[in-house]
Amino acid sequence: MNSKLIFFILSISILSCKNSEDSMKGRSFGPNDPKQYITILGIAQDGGYPHINNTDEFVGVAQGDISKELVVCLGIVDQKERKKFLIEATPDLPEQLAMLDAIYLNKAPIIDGVFLTHAHIGHYTGLMYFGREAMGSKDIQVFTMPKMKLFLENNGPWSQLVDLQNIVLRPLEHEVSVDLTENIKITPFLVPHRDEFSETVGYRIDGKSKSGLFIPDINKWTLWEKKIVDEVKKVDYAFIDATFFKEGEIPRPMAEVPHPFIQESIELFKNESKEVKSKIIFIHFNHSNPLMDPSNKERIQLEKEGYRFANTNDMFEL
Ligand SMILES: [Zn+2]
Ligand SMILES: [Zn+2]
Repeated sequence: MNSKLIFFILSISILSCKNSEDSMKGRSFGPNDPKQYITILGIAQDGGYPHINNTDEFVGVAQGDISKELVVCLGIVDQKERKKFLIEATPDLPEQLAMLDAIYLNKAPIIDGVFLTHAHIGHYTGLMYFGREAMGSKDIQVFTMPKMKLFLENNGPWSQLVDLQNIVLRPLEHEVSVDLTENIKITPFLVPHRDEFSETVGYRIDGKSKSGLFIPDINKWTLWEKKIVDEVKKVDYAFIDATFFKEGEIPRPMAEVPHPFIQESIELFKNESKEVKSKIIFIHFNHSNPLMDPSNKERIQLEKEGYRFANTNDMFEL
């Protein structure tokens, strides 16, 4: 076994989940493991963790007091068809592709498709690594909504990736499904967000036996035409926006960066059963969110009620 692989296996044994029946600890794969699954490749908000202008966090990581977290990203793997996909191209894309390769599925091309949600820095800038300065890839399939596609085609440095065919843009439409493999399909849907450069979508991922919802960024739930409680009930897993825990968490007006606070999300689900609550997997944590810390008392209380918190390398059968 090479040292890179040992490193990854050690990392996942440290990072892997504690509380989920559906997710599995990262490890070598046996015959009973699912052939199709979602895996978590990052849980932090766009700025990552540790975060710029927070030296204490960098020192904390260096001293081993806190663990670094990569920017929010899901991997989708079909071992049967030997295909792998990313949702999001984050600033941590090289490491996330290496995790997919070393732990889950080692094959060429390095990725069979990348699905983007929107043009905020944590969600698309990793595309730069496909360019001439880094990988110089050929024809990486990148699936985008119409405004996002125009943004990439018409603005450097992204337009160069398109011109040089490092990436090939594949159009997506609101509520129109795309088959990833025979057993997995994905469907984008529009959500309200700060759409300065592109629209924003979430994704529904449907497997043979289970399904998941991924909404990493959304303004307040009330602005969405759909009801989050109803949408969560329709799926097995709902990976949803957990940027902030509550009002007052960052030292600037929080209305500038609207997100549903975890406090507001749990209020919507307070009368639902533990089974419904346990479908929720909070993800996309800002560095200020105290609930990123597994020993946080309020987090432990929420976990008792059924809610889950994403951990890197948690896996969810599809
Ligand atoms: Zn984000
Ligand atoms: Zn955003």
